Amino acid sequence: MTNKEITIGGQTVAPGEDKLLSIPIDRLPTGTLIDIPVYVFNAKKSGPTVLVQAGLHGDEINGIEIVRRMIAEKSFKVKKGAIIAVPILNIFGFIHFSRDVPDGKDVNRSFPGTKSGSMASRIAYHYLNQVMHQIDYGIDLHTGGGRRHNFPQIRYTAEDEQSVELAEIFNAPISFASKLIKGSFRNAAFRMKKPTVVFEAGESMRFDDYSIVEGIKGISNVLRHFGMLSDTESTKYEEVNKTIHLNTRRWLRAPTAGMFIPKTTNGSEISKGQVLGIITDTFAKRTKQIKAPFDGYVFCVNHQAVINQGEALFHVGTA
Ligand SMILES: [Zn+2]
Repeated sequence: MTNKEITIGGQTVAPGEDKLLSIPIDRLPTGTLIDIPVYVFNAKKSGPTVLVQAGLHGDEINGIEIVRRMIAEKSFKVKKGAIIAVPILNIFGFIHFSRDVPDGKDVNRSFPGTKSGSMASRIAYHYLNQVMHQIDYGIDLHTGGGRRHNFPQIRYTAEDEQSVELAEIFNAPISFASKLIKGSFRNAAFRMKKPTVVFEAGESMRFDDYSIVEGIKGISNVLRHFGMLSDTESTKYEEVNKTIHLNTRRWLRAPTAGMFIPKTTNGSEISKGQVLGIITDTFAKRTKQIKAPFDGYVFCVNHQAVINQGEALFHVGTA
């Protein structure tokens, strides 16, 4: 059976074609067009359509590099089905080293959006309307916000059995169910019954090769599972380690302001009472230890050196 056509931004990609398209969004005061570039790889043979998107937060560049490498390595030249690859969803954020768009809003809190809203809302609206009805599965690539470094992890929607399965297939080092946030892309995808997972790895504005490679492996695992990868691509990233499922999670916050010095490596196993890091004043007079509240894993570390009271330092969880 031949695959279906994919139409985005008024342009059609026939089975057997690859095309770089664009969804026009809005013009800036200078007349500069803000658009969303979309690369479609459509195989001749029918199969699932998988959306791989990055840069919903424009400063979260690991995902952008994951998509770029997979395009460069021709990993998206699938033998069946189609890939809709979006390297940078939020172009404006990307060029401004920012999560947001000029209206100060977060696109990932603006779904489903409106046609006549300000930019975040329009990006959400046009993107959903042009892309979502054509996909079967979604993979949304992120990093920790600010200087928070996420150890490569998959977040899925517990209420959606297929999203749970997709997380299992992706096989990131860490995975857990996470609540749907109002206005988020994953929430909009859930409402449209499109199983979606969010991959979080590394921190904003910084390439992290381990995170990038784990992302490529996970996406390859999904494409291999659906029989989409070419024979040469199929053996490239075969996964052996199983994902660690976290059942409970907790943020450890700064008990006091000061300089924060982590004493543990992100992704490592921790035991109850272990000193994960210290907060100290600049005079070496007072030091507070941050201790592990239980046996488990640390999967996010804040790399900000100067910390205010109450700020998130570590995300920890139990398997
Ligand atoms: Zn993000």
